Amino acid sequence: MTRPPADPLGRLPFATGRSAPLVSPLLPSVVWKAAGPDDLDALYAEGSGYTYAREGHPNADALGARIDALEGAAGGIVTGSGMAAVTLALLGTLRAGDRLLAAERLYGRSMRLLAEVLPGMGIAVDRADATQGDAFAAALRPGTRAILIETVSNPDLRVADLDPIAAAARKAGAALIVDATFSTPRAIRVLGRGADVVVQSVTKLMAGHSDVTLGYVGLRDPARIAPMRALAVTLGLTPSPFDCWLAERGLLTFALRHDRAEATARMLADAVAGMAGVVRVLYPGRPDHPDHARAEALFGGRGGALFSFEVAGGRAAANALVAAMPEVAFAPTLGDVATTLSHPATSSHRALTPEGRAALGLSEGFFRVSVGIEEPEALHAAFARGIAAAVAAT
Ligand SMILES: *Cc1c(COP(=O)(O)O)cnc(C)c1O
Repeated sequence: MTRPPADPLGRLPFATGRSAPLVSPLLPSVVWKAAGPDDLDALYAEGSGYTYAREGHPNADALGARIDALEGAAGGIVTGSGMAAVTLALLGTLRAGDRLLAAERLYGRSMRLLAEVLPGMGIAVDRADATQGDAFAAALRPGTRAILIETVSNPDLRVADLDPIAAAARKAGAALIVDATFSTPRAIRVLGRGADVVVQSVTKLMAGHSDVTLGYVGLRDPARIAPMRALAVTLGLTPSPFDCWLAERGLLTFALRHDRAEATARMLADAVAGMAGVVRVLYPGRPDHPDHARAEALFGGRGGALFSFEVAGGRAAANALVAAMPEVAFAPTLGDVATTLSHPATSSHRALTPEGRAALGLSEGFFRVSVGIEEPEALHAAFARGIAAAVAAT
């Protein structure tokens, strides 16, 4: 085999006349050469091609196109983390003097962004319960320019009342931003259901292997894409090519992983609900979940890959449970191929007082489970062992 000849820029073409790589090439180059001033001028004039990686690079575009296809979007923006995506969505829709109406239940860092950063920028934040659509809409005020909700909340897996909130947002002329990390586009494409902006932490189920942090912002109005993309570049929210390349690989199995994890989550949630010592189980796919009917309607019968449960007993029971099921990683993340167990009282909600946690129903015996793709029978045995150990320690 002779190598295809390099062109005047010294590029080795990836696609030749007769073949092309099946897998996206990884292109870590930060800078791109041009053939000369005329070409560079034309490149800028056309808005095509690459110059500098912060401005955009092929691996981000390849990943963005795949996520666009899942979300039913076009021109979505890939960012270096999910929080970068939340930040971009908010700063791209709000100005000093505006108000944001946000759900009471939100991802911990998003709550800190709202509490610690936005007020200093002159953006007022109102909060309301997004599981009660009409009451939430009643919290809209003159000057509310954006709304931020999550499809499914952490760790109690409550489902936002999306349809009335979307109708109220439209009527008020406020941009509806929906963080759909927990539901994923496998269960719902929120841009087709009234959201103006969809945010994803691609770090979680979409990439799926806990080896990248990435985010995504998708927009319903094509006119908003260019200014939002320019803001992402100015703020330096651009992702790494390697992370994008890994995530593109992860996305190839997203649907398979999601559906397997979901089937196992449903089985485990039912099994755990029947185990002695279990006070309650929260799984949107179970009829006893407070938002079950809404979850069925919004997510087309999908219950998701996460469930939460509470065992009786305090910290001692929680310690015994974790110690007795070592094959399930005790790690406060979600969406990995491996099942992980998180304990909000000592992780995501540790900053709250015990009374504050009690108000949210987050006792020392409360755990959230992100189900992976292991053998379901082995997981069932691990949970039976862990819960029995918690009972014995109570
Ligand atoms: C994890 C997460 C984020 C933040 O994503 P990172 O990639 O960790 O920055 C935002 N929203 C939700 C709902 C999340 O679970």
